[in-house]
Amino acid sequence: EVVTRFAPSPTGYLHIGGARTALFNWLYARGRGGKFLLRIEDTDRARSTPAATEAILKGLDWLGLDHDGEVVSQFDRADRHAEVAQALLAKGAAYKCFATPEDIEAFRDAARAAGKSTLFQSPWRDADPATHPDAPYVIRLKTPTEGARVIRDQVQGDVTIRNDQLDDMVLLRSDGTPVYMLAVVVDDHDMGVTHVIRGDDHLNNAARQMGIYTAMGWDIPVWAHIPLIHGPDGKKLSKRHGALGVEEYQAMGYPAAGMRNYLARLGWSHGDDEFFTDTQAQEWFDLDGIGKSPARFDFKKLENLCGQHIAVGDDAALLHEIEAYLTASSQSPLTEAQRDGLLRGMYCLKERAKTFPELLEKAYFILADTPIQPDEKAARNLDSVSRGILAALTPRLQNASWSREQLEEATARFAEENGTKFGKLAGPLRAALAGRAVTPSVFDMMLVLGREESLSRLAQAAA
Ligand code: GLU
Repeated sequence: EVVTRFAPSPTGYLHIGGARTALFNWLYARGRGGKFLLRIEDTDRARSTPAATEAILKGLDWLGLDHDGEVVSQFDRADRHAEVAQALLAKGAAYKCFATPEDIEAFRDAARAAGKSTLFQSPWRDADPATHPDAPYVIRLKTPTEGARVIRDQVQGDVTIRNDQLDDMVLLRSDGTPVYMLAVVVDDHDMGVTHVIRGDDHLNNAARQMGIYTAMGWDIPVWAHIPLIHGPDGKKLSKRHGALGVEEYQAMGYPAAGMRNYLARLGWSHGDDEFFTDTQAQEWFDLDGIGKSPARFDFKKLENLCGQHIAVGDDAALLHEIEAYLTASSQSPLTEAQRDGLLRGMYCLKERAKTFPELLEKAYFILADTPIQPDEKAARNLDSVSRGILAALTPRLQNASWSREQLEEATARFAEENGTKFGKLAGPLRAALAGRAVTPSVFDMMLVLGREESLSRLAQAAA
């Protein structure tokens, strides 16, 4: 069974890079009937905050990246990490090192003076336990002094690291607390993680983590270290170029499905496919499709995909998401009547809206307070001639059954009889129905508003 995990450090919001890492792991597991686990790496007590954990959980929830099982706290597992350090000690794969910081400094100074490697070599590595002092010590892993290790990375290929480039890393500090590197390995092993997909800033860690796996005789998971996300200029992603917390994307009104689609395409590809559903993404996602060079963040592409997802979205689900967006962006909630109106109008509102603010802009005719107050541009379409036209047209519409066909027909006939073009009628109708010059089609508006409300707005404007 495939088991993946997302292991964020709760030191800030869930940023876009973290969200993508989570998504890749989620896609990989979900597409293979596997499990996607969540571990909060909260061992750095000074920098980890409950608020950050909360923000990460909320961000994942918004993105729809559901995890299996309980959220694991790495800090809570410190005893187990220490136990593994002791096991390595008992096996002779690790040793107690009594070197003080001064000892280590002195070693380095001497090595520098002699022009040798300053990687610390502990004199306690092969010391007879009988000679151990009664003093504080750390537990260090015995790293082979010769040979090399090869990380078989699914993205980067084989990465070879010479063992003599690695020191005997500390596993357990003198106060008995485990180091981060040990915690990650023990947790991944105990959680049964089979595939680790994470940022390539962890590639060097993998070399060290490999030493612990080998010493414990544990299976090494499949590693896939993905290139970081860059800005459109190819430089490190900056705030202006999208390095934001995912909750900011929610507050900007991007739909989660579009965000998932875009993030999936950020560093991974499947032929020429740009737009895809979650089901397709889960089916298609694999490690082969992950690119070796950093992906560039592109707001245009994000918006384009978001527009496509809004267009095919389920109406009720879209309404639900819009309400969450309004909350996330601290706007007032919808009234019952506004919700009903949005649901009725969703079929036309969702066309060509790239974000929820754009959709709501089109929905102005539904959301605006009545009586409609035309804005400046719309008011220009309500001069006395136009008001006369509206007054003459209204009875014709009144006699129509309120279907698109009949409304279109009545309007077309009226235009013909009066020797005018439909285009001449549209402006006044838009102004009357929405108080705006740019709106959805007048027939859509009339159908969504219904006979009574439409006629009342026309009468109001014609008066
Ligand atoms: N906690 C690490 C981070 O947030 C991830 C460690 C890992 O995925 O192995 O960067």
